[in-house]
Amino acid sequence: MVRSILLDLDGTLYNSQEYNARIEKEIVGIVAEQMHVARSLAEFRLGKERKKQGTLTGALRVLGVERDLFFEALAARVEPAEYLTQDPSTNSTLKELKKRGFKLALVTNNGRTMTRKILDAIGLDSPIFDVTVTSNDCSPKPSSQPFLQALSKLNCTPDRAVYVGDRVEAELLPAQRLGIRTVLLDRGVGIRNDRVGPVITHLAEILNVVENVQESDSVTSVSP
Ligand SMILES: [Mg+2]
Repeated sequence: MVRSILLDLDGTLYNSQEYNARIEKEIVGIVAEQMHVARSLAEFRLGKERKKQGTLTGALRVLGVERDLFFEALAARVEPAEYLTQDPSTNSTLKELKKRGFKLALVTNNGRTMTRKILDAIGLDSPIFDVTVTSNDCSPKPSSQPFLQALSKLNCTPDRAVYVGDRVEAELLPAQRLGIRTVLLDRGVGIRNDRVGPVITHLAEILNVVENVQESDSVTSVSP
């Protein structure tokens, strides 16, 4: 039986090209300042490391940019509410999951302040999540730490959790290695990967996916 749903934030609970473009601009600016190098050099080195490491936080680590300071600077410069709006579908999907008795955890590589600002902008009250793990709390994904921390706080075992996210290498495969089932949310990027389990294109589809998992689990458990 699935008891908990773990959800990624960026690219999963919202997606906005305008917001992403603004964020990218600020990311390069902050990295240039913290590395004391020109913008163009920061952009080049950041791009290279992001490709190599697979995540922004991984690139920051390799470049020696302090993660908490970086995310505080980002939160001070960007107002997500200028770009992101409330999403009734996401909102009602999460509420429905709660109504059906699932515990919800937000597991994000973003910083705590920015996470709160984004949740405000998209109209999700923090109390909807039983647990929130940000990169202020532990080593970010693909580390196993944020998954394990969320499970431990939820008092849930990996086989009773489902993780929903938009990145295969950085999130889904690390979750699977811990025994957590995964669902890939592909908002039109066209990611196809046999290794990740169900692929959905709207978060609302998670309701059906979870129901199917429950049914197949109950079939398995009554089989001789
Ligand atoms: Mg994401």
